[in-house]
Amino acid sequence: MMCSSCGKRAFEKFRGRYYCRECFIRKYEGAVESAIRRYRMVKKNERVLAALSGGKDSVAMLMSLKSLSRKLNFELEAFFIHLGIEDYSDKSLAVSQKVSSILDVELNVVRIEDYGFRIDDVKRKTCSVCGNVKRYLFNRFARENRFDLIATGHCAEDILANLLKNMYSGNLGWSEKQKPRIEGYDRMVGRIRPLYEMSERENLLYVLARELPFVSEECPHAPSTMWKEIVYDIEKRVPGYRVSVLRNLARERRDEKTEYRYCKKCGEITTSSICQFCRNVMKYSKKSG
Ligand code: SF4
Repeated sequence: MMCSSCGKRAFEKFRGRYYCRECFIRKYEGAVESAIRRYRMVKKNERVLAALSGGKDSVAMLMSLKSLSRKLNFELEAFFIHLGIEDYSDKSLAVSQKVSSILDVELNVVRIEDYGFRIDDVKRKTCSVCGNVKRYLFNRFARENRFDLIATGHCAEDILANLLKNMYSGNLGWSEKQKPRIEGYDRMVGRIRPLYEMSERENLLYVLARELPFVSEECPHAPSTMWKEIVYDIEKRVPGYRVSVLRNLARERRDEKTEYRYCKKCGEITTSSICQFCRNVMKYSKKSG
């Protein structure tokens, strides 16, 4: 098979056409750039903190942001949270350090052990506690270090699977939180999802094409992939479903304002008197006795 753009030996298919390695990289980065422009994700001179986990999606995000940072004129640093998960967290940190050094991006590291617990100590609803820990620490670090935006490596399937799951449980307010750019307010830093329209497979092929290291094993606490499988299944039956739903979701506007106050313990934004992160620390931390 030959590259449909330059005639060299093909590497892989991207959106219906075969491309060689170099043209694949160009097409992928072009698609990320189009999404960043389409959804006005980054403004000139903004400081972006990229959440790096060492997995293929976050590595693909950091690489593509790095390749676009000069052209689109934004500053970039990376952030890793050591979650205290078996060997997985140590491996993920080692890979994240390697990737950041290859890309010459500064890596900031925070350990949840400094708060007296590890994700491995959490026996129930592990991913929900872990998600809260990540959101809290990203936001706090980004704000305290004057970043304008936090970039996460959520891809199309992550967003659609979340949407389906939340529709199933009647949690429709979450659809607002799945947008490609969420503006910051008060003590909350804005968020962007540069891989909003990219699929997991495209991210994997891009990282392989760029010959970057990534953690291939799953987190031992990873939940079932059922909702993602449903998304793949629908896309197979209705080609174009993924992008169509994501673009409609990004257009939808709701004017609901979230009521918020400040946590009595740490002062961060919360909807209750003590934020979920501090409640997790009180429940799991050995330091809080
Ligand atoms: Fe955290 Fe769950 Fe992701 Fe593991 S799978 S890193 S526990 S959210």
